[in-house]
Amino acid sequence: MYLYNTLRRRPVEFEPVQNRVGLYVCGITPYDGGHLGHAFTYHTFDILVRRLRQQRITVRSVRNITDVDDSILGAARERGIDYRELGDRAVALFDHDMEALGILPVDAAPRPSEHVPAMVQQIERLMQVGSAYAVQGWVYFDVSTFPRYGRLSELDSAAMLALSRERGGDPNDARKHNPLDFVLWQPSLVDEPRWQSPWSEGRPGWHIECSVLSDLELGLPIDIHGGGADLIYPHHESEIAQTEALGVETFCRHWMHVAMVGYHGEKMSKSLGNLVFVHDLLQRTSPAAIRLMLCAQHYRSEWEYREDLLSAAGLRQATYVEAIKSGGRLEPRDAIEFQTEFHERIDDDLDTPGALGVLDIAAKAIIETDHATTGATRTVGTELLGEMLDLLGVL
Ligand SMILES: [Zn+2]
Repeated sequence: MYLYNTLRRRPVEFEPVQNRVGLYVCGITPYDGGHLGHAFTYHTFDILVRRLRQQRITVRSVRNITDVDDSILGAARERGIDYRELGDRAVALFDHDMEALGILPVDAAPRPSEHVPAMVQQIERLMQVGSAYAVQGWVYFDVSTFPRYGRLSELDSAAMLALSRERGGDPNDARKHNPLDFVLWQPSLVDEPRWQSPWSEGRPGWHIECSVLSDLELGLPIDIHGGGADLIYPHHESEIAQTEALGVETFCRHWMHVAMVGYHGEKMSKSLGNLVFVHDLLQRTSPAAIRLMLCAQHYRSEWEYREDLLSAAGLRQATYVEAIKSGGRLEPRDAIEFQTEFHERIDDDLDTPGALGVLDIAAKAIIETDHATTGATRTVGTELLGEMLDLLGVL
């Protein structure tokens, strides 16, 4: 199977070690429902997991829940409730949406709030090797000690500074030695959760959470680490730095990123208020149509949600249902050919639009088959369609 590796900037043959794959996908910050951007990311990794398991590869899939960070604590404060209560509610809604979409449950969903002592230990080690410094209860990673900083995102300092500002960093923080240094630990405000540390009663930074959780759940190196493309910088860039600065040769073998989804000409984002929520779509359309709409997009290409994409997916779904109900038949050798082509598309960097093309032709062939054809059997046709749709997570 070929998968595009963000760090190597090309598709590379992905080879599991001892037939096992540990997959870590950055999860949601639970303070709101899941939107289409989340669904596209988790749908993509769901197909990857299904294909690996189909090849009898043992996959351990982990998706964290970022229950301690600025955004959830801010939202909890605004609504006057405990961040854990807010988190539990949002996680329940999110899990419900993902299940409705047919996205397989993960094997572990760790929360930073449950593993802070391990994070404190890793920050202490970074202090010992001279890659971190403490100022007034805050601890920062010193990017000047890690020359490879910026290699994953291929961004220069100016571009990183601009993005950092946009994505919640504070390059103007006067305590920092370098504006690109990032927070490993910060003192908690009066109403925020707090943990003991040598520097202050505080809480971990966002990036250290995922480094520590992925290591705890899967061990290093992580086979595949992924998430939305907006996590490449600073989140994943910083995860690499704070792990490899400790002498770990490779934090992660394969980086995968899913392109952003837009709406009305802009990237779908909370700050722009142009979110399309999964639970709203589920009110008026079938999970199968939503999954087929997502399959029609390649995971590395940015796209914009439009109503007509959903209608087109609905028509496609109707054709597949017609094929399955038609009692149409396929010659076994044709079925094998369709199946092979379909798997080739998936194994070519998860080319789901190409895979749908194969499905379309197979469905048409089943509908149009001369039912009297010798050797053709009905079960071959319906089983084939069922298996292909199952691999795409279409119920
Ligand atoms: Zn993460």
